[in-house]
Amino acid sequence: MTPGQVTPRPVRRRHPAPGSRALRGLPLRPLLLVLAVELLAAAAVVAGVLLVPAPSRSEWLLAGLLGLVAVAHTELSVNAERIRRRIAETRYVNMTSVWTFSAALLLPPGLATAVVGVVYLHLYLRVSRPSGTPPHRQVFSAATVLLAVHAVAALRLPGGAAPGSFGDPQDAATVLVALGVYTAVNTLLVVSVLRLTSPGSRFLAILRGGDVGLELATLSIGGLVAVVLADTSPWYALLAVLPLMVVEQTTLVRQLEARVDTDAKTGLLNPAAWQWRTRRLLERGARAHRAVAVLILDLDHFKSVNDRHGHLAGDDVLQAVADVLTAEVRDDDLAGRFGGEEFVVAVGGLRPDAALGRAREVAERIRHSVRELTVQTASAGPVDGLSVSIGVAASPEHGTDLNRLLAAADAALYEAKHDGRDRVRVRRPDPPAAPGVATPPVGLSYGT
Ligand code: GH3
Ligand code: MG
Ligand code: MG
Repeated sequence: MTPGQVTPRPVRRRHPAPGSRALRGLPLRPLLLVLAVELLAAAAVVAGVLLVPAPSRSEWLLAGLLGLVAVAHTELSVNAERIRRRIAETRYVNMTSVWTFSAALLLPPGLATAVVGVVYLHLYLRVSRPSGTPPHRQVFSAATVLLAVHAVAALRLPGGAAPGSFGDPQDAATVLVALGVYTAVNTLLVVSVLRLTSPGSRFLAILRGGDVGLELATLSIGGLVAVVLADTSPWYALLAVLPLMVVEQTTLVRQLEARVDTDAKTGLLNPAAWQWRTRRLLERGARAHRAVAVLILDLDHFKSVNDRHGHLAGDDVLQAVADVLTAEVRDDDLAGRFGGEEFVVAVGGLRPDAALGRAREVAERIRHSVRELTVQTASAGPVDGLSVSIGVAASPEHGTDLNRLLAAADAALYEAKHDGRDRVRVRRPDPPAAPGVATPPVGLSYGT
């Protein structure tokens, strides 16, 4: 895959993310972490108010203005944000951190807390509640932001940039460090809770699904806003609103694009997206003299899994198998769900003389991992004893276009089923086609 190409690899939630159900419904560990974060935030707020001198009149005015612009910004982008909130796969990065980060840099912590309070209450009423997010989730988000704000305040206390002056190179360094601290505190807390509510999910995968780049870009705009506001009229803050709205719209389009490519049940690529990307993989491979292998996988006796444990448990099994595929293939490979209990994998960048051997290794790894699976289903307890049959084909042996490769892998899958299931089969390469022979259609004989 070329750098920058987006593969939707959303982190699947076997348990809903914090907030998608009642607080008391959370498992114990995430619940404790959520409560600890909220208590710590409350303590930081109290300490900030008690230990830092009362704000000046100009600081009160600045806080009022930041709150006002933040509310106006949310109002202007409320439709896009409601959709983004609803479809967020892991965490929802909202762009009000422009204002909360500016407040952290410019205001004493007590006043910055007030700005965060106004921003998050308004966000809850106008974006989260209409999108079905329960209040405790917003409380947790606000608590993580408050801790980030106070971490920045603590950084500024020992002689860092004082409000109203960002002229020294040392101040620039403070702003950059503050940006890092704010991101680290906020991201680590949110990702930790997500990880605890989603057993088996990997920290980095959540991080990648969580739009850290977007968050850093938002905070960078926040840093610029703070620097401008420190030396000029606060009304210049309005100049940031339009660029933010454009970024929001672009992000929304990107998120919707990713959803169009994704199988809703498993988070893998859907058939159309998988075929389109695999064709591109084949084209790039042909130019670089690299082979592509195609695996078709079909769960064995899946109907009896449904019959014994119920359809919902069957869905959990499909999700667990999708997780196996994601774990067993490299980031550049393409894993998709073709429908039912049938999956496909494309492995690119292979040496042509070793492609089938490598593909067989990958297939055997997947087969073993599926055998080892014990799926903790929500509706029927643990389900194990699973197995999968896999058909393998690779370019150039089985052809260089996708239809031929799929037909060869499907025929190999048929052999694997016929020979007793729970095995990998590689189709013996066809003799070279005579010129003018038509490519077989994609119609898979094994099917779902
Ligand atoms: P074989 O070893 O020959 O593949 O047997 P099988 O039972 O897996 O094959 P079959 O194609 O007869 O059954 C596939 C089953 O997959 C039937 C259908 O109920 C189930 N199925 C298809 N899509 C879904 C889904 O999205 N969720 C669940 N839970 N089951 C599904
Ligand atoms: Mg099957
Ligand atoms: Mg099937």
